[in-house]
Amino acid sequence: MNKINKVLVANRGEIALRIIRACKELDIKSVAIFSEADVEGVWVRKADECYPIMGDVIQAYLDFEKIITIAKRANCDAIHPGYGFLSENADFARACEKNGITFIGPKADHIELFGDKMASKVAMKKVGVPVLEGTNEPILDVKEGVKIANEIGFPVIIKAAFGGGGRGMRIVKEQKDFSSMFESATNESLKYFGRGEVFIEKYVENPRHIEIQVIADKYGNVLHLGERDCSIQRRHQKVIEIAPSPRLNNDTRKELYRIATKAMFKLGYESVGTVEFLVDVDDNIFFIEMNTRVQVEHPVTETITGVDIIQRMIEIAEGDKLQFLQEEVQFRGYAIEFRINAENPQKNFMPSVGTVSKYLTPGGPGVRIDTSVYTGYKVPANYDSMIGKLIVWSLDWEGAVRKATRALDEFYIEGFPTNIPLHREIVRDKDFKDGKFYTNYLDKKLEKFN
Ligand code: ADP
Repeated sequence: MNKINKVLVANRGEIALRIIRACKELDIKSVAIFSEADVEGVWVRKADECYPIMGDVIQAYLDFEKIITIAKRANCDAIHPGYGFLSENADFARACEKNGITFIGPKADHIELFGDKMASKVAMKKVGVPVLEGTNEPILDVKEGVKIANEIGFPVIIKAAFGGGGRGMRIVKEQKDFSSMFESATNESLKYFGRGEVFIEKYVENPRHIEIQVIADKYGNVLHLGERDCSIQRRHQKVIEIAPSPRLNNDTRKELYRIATKAMFKLGYESVGTVEFLVDVDDNIFFIEMNTRVQVEHPVTETITGVDIIQRMIEIAEGDKLQFLQEEVQFRGYAIEFRINAENPQKNFMPSVGTVSKYLTPGGPGVRIDTSVYTGYKVPANYDSMIGKLIVWSLDWEGAVRKATRALDEFYIEGFPTNIPLHREIVRDKDFKDGKFYTNYLDKKLEKFN
């Protein structure tokens, strides 16, 4: 056991606050960092100590030398990276360990392996996980790409090997479009990830995005906490997440649990992580990627299992053994998470900035809100547009949808446009209510809504 006494939270916004709350309940001191744009951040005030990082406001949360220096100065024995920023940076995890600071997350080698989508497919295939047909090496030129795409058979998808957040991805339906799609995927990948390597894989028509939350300690105990259905996406980015998946076949569900936990056991994974799959209309399962961090959508899993994922993640980093068995994980009811984004659904989802002039949150049983927003808060223009999450819970699916409808109707954020009106439309949509949604659901509906 390597008891953690003080954690530096290397993040901002709702996830920083979520981690600080988890620490408080574990009697662990927390240290916040903030950029010049985040002086008013609520997490800054909730932490036991806070330190500014001057200069570039995005770089502030990426500058690992400065962050480690602050952690040492403040006598932190651990760093929690949250999601985004440094959370999947293997060099950062190594730098923490080198400086005698526990990185709250998986081993650096696993972060590195799963940060490369091609390498992770190879590794997962070796331990019996079904993967989509595709290339294991980056595609270097268009000619080679076209040849491979023809071998796989159109439609194919071109993907950034080191990508995320739905960026650097292009669907190619016909050979004639390959060259322009290849170029735009490569350019987008370079722009967002600083690396242009792309690979090709078979495109699955109308899949569901089903992901398995895994949790593993340092002693080979690997459990799952069920699945999340993240099929409601806009341009391959999640918008609504649900646990459990309302229409997933039970045998398929069990198979996903089995495959994910077995693979993580064989690879010696530790900490929390998410194994993402596509499930096609015939219930075929394909691994797409593994995320080695806590995810935005972790609250839906917490809600149906009662397991505090961040707290258990901290205990695992301390060297604790998991305190429960798989049979003891109980799944109860349905939880739905709505990402609240400062963006204008009427204007092609343009990010909005402004000051929150009126803020009224829904409440009542089965409603959870994770946000760092408050009345008078000025949303900085420099970061991701997600400003919070609404999570609802009910014993059955119909009840959860009704709860969501009521809670979304109560939710008022004034001062700038948000995507709350879009969520209100979705929960009233028949296909959504019937659980009939695939990854193309929202992009198709948006054509109709607009
Ligand atoms: P990212 O890391 O950018 O989130 P993922 O590989 O997790 O990218 O994929 C994000 C989404 O893109 C998936 O949920 C799915 O909607 C779509 N997608 C990815 N790969 C495929 C594929 N081979 N076929 C069909 N859709 C895909």
